[in-house]
Amino acid sequence: MYRTILVPVDVTEPELTEMVVPHVETLAKLEDARVHFLTVIPPLPYYTTLGLAYSAELPEKEDIIGESGKKLDDVIARFSIPEDRIEKHVTWGAPKDQILNLAKEIDASVIVIASHKPSVTTYLLGSNAAVVVRHATCPVLVVR
Ligand code: ADP
Repeated sequence: MYRTILVPVDVTEPELTEMVVPHVETLAKLEDARVHFLTVIPPLPYYTTLGLAYSAELPEKEDIIGESGKKLDDVIARFSIPEDRIEKHVTWGAPKDQILNLAKEIDASVIVIASHKPSVTTYLLGSNAAVVVRHATCPVLVVR
């Protein structure tokens, strides 16, 4: 039932990750699932595309990917899941699109996400979580 678990992670929000840890661990144990962790690097803020920042000041794409990968490693270390059951993905783009794309690609049996940042109390679901819930073709576990 839960052979392939997708866990999208916003590496800038450690609190959100803490919330999903027990849920992912419990699900992963049921069938010795493969757990895919994904972090997505959003596109550059629009002021850079307006020419309001010099591209020379921006870090290289490879450095950003490398740094995000390290942050994702720190996050993954919070989960007690056997190393050989873990897959790591770092991609570039709109988080919601990348989450849905990867879910299809790996044929995810379930996606586990946190509902939204704890500081954002006005919405029941964050913008990425909302789109994932609405468009995913597999079950989605929203942790709140
Ligand atoms: P908020 O708008 O409050 O930040 P989001 O919908 O963006 O809420 O975040 C909810 C969940 O969406 C996160 O817990 C995470 O699972 C996923 N998510 C958000 N941003 C990213 C990202 N950059 N990479 C991977 N997953 C993300």
